[in-house]
Amino acid sequence: MHVRRIIIFIILAAMQVYLPISIISVVSGKVSINFVVHYIDVGQGDCTFIEFDDNTCMLIDCGEKSQSINNKIVSYIKNTGKTQIDYFVLTHPNTDHVGNAIGIANALSIKQVYIPDIAKPENFYTYSNILEVFSQKDIKVEKFSVGKVVKNEPFVAFLSPKPSGEEGSSFDELNLSDFPTEKQINNLSPITYVEYKGARFLFTGDADQSQEQIVVNSYNIGLYDILYGKGRVKLKNIDFLKVGHHGGNDSSGQNFLDLIKAKNVVISVGGGNIYNHPDTLVLNRIFQANQNVNFYRTDMEGNIKVVVNNRGKYEVFTEL
Ligand SMILES: [Zn+2]
Repeated sequence: MHVRRIIIFIILAAMQVYLPISIISVVSGKVSINFVVHYIDVGQGDCTFIEFDDNTCMLIDCGEKSQSINNKIVSYIKNTGKTQIDYFVLTHPNTDHVGNAIGIANALSIKQVYIPDIAKPENFYTYSNILEVFSQKDIKVEKFSVGKVVKNEPFVAFLSPKPSGEEGSSFDELNLSDFPTEKQINNLSPITYVEYKGARFLFTGDADQSQEQIVVNSYNIGLYDILYGKGRVKLKNIDFLKVGHHGGNDSSGQNFLDLIKAKNVVISVGGGNIYNHPDTLVLNRIFQANQNVNFYRTDMEGNIKVVVNNRGKYEVFTEL
C-alpha cells in the first residue's frame, strides 16, 4: 500500500470518517468540510468537478466522448448527492474536453455554461452540436475571458484569455484564421483560479506556454489586483496546479512554474497514451520550480480528490 494511503487511512480511522463521503458536514468541533475538488479519471482527457461550501458545484470539462466515460462522470457526480451543475466550463472544443457534454446535459440539470468566444462554432462539429442542445434546453451560456468572476466566495475567476478585440486575444487569433491550428484551439482554454479559505487551485485546460506567460505578465503588472481587488489573486506557492495539456511539452513553461511554485500538481492523462504525455521535460521543469512538489496522476492513481476544511487545510485521497 502506498505510504500516503496508509497515512490517510490512519487519519480517517482516527476521525471515524467514512472515505467515500464527499461532503462531510460537521466532522468534529467547529471544523467542517465543505469544499472538495475531484479530478475525475477520464483517461486521456480532462474532467474536474468542484463542490463548493454553499452547495453549488462546478464542472470543468467532461472527457473524451464515450458511453462508459459519460456514465462514469454522471454517476460520480450523482454519488456526491448532486443532480444539478451550477457552473459548467467548456475550456475549448477538443473532444477530449467536451466529448460528453450532451450526455451530461441529458442526465443532469445545468444552470450556467461558460464557453470560449468562438466566432464560427459550426467549424467544430461536436462542439456546435453541444451548443445546439444547450440552446434547446434553454441553458444560459456565457463567454469567459479575463476579468470575469464566476463566484465571490469561494472565489472563482478567469485569469485568461484576453477578451476578443484586445491585443493578444487568443479568441481573435483563432477567429481570424481560416484553418485554426491545434495550438490556436488549445489556447482558447482559460486559466481558472479557485480559492477557498486560502487554499488555491489553478486549472489550465490545454493552454500553452504563451497563455501562461500572459498570466505571469498580468500578475507582475498588477492587473489582477485592478480587476479583482488587491491581493485577491495570489499566484505564489499555489496549492494545486492541474498541469496544462495533460503534461505536454508545449505547456508548463519554466517562468510560469517558477512564479506559482506549485506545492501539488495533478496531471490528467491516459495510461500509455500515444502522445507520450506527460513529457519528462515537463516533470523536470515542475520539479525544478519546487523540489518538494507532490505529483498526482490520474493514469496511476485514478480519481484524485482534494478535501478542504473550513480552515483551509486539505487532504488528498486517491482511488488507487
Ligand atoms: Zn486535451
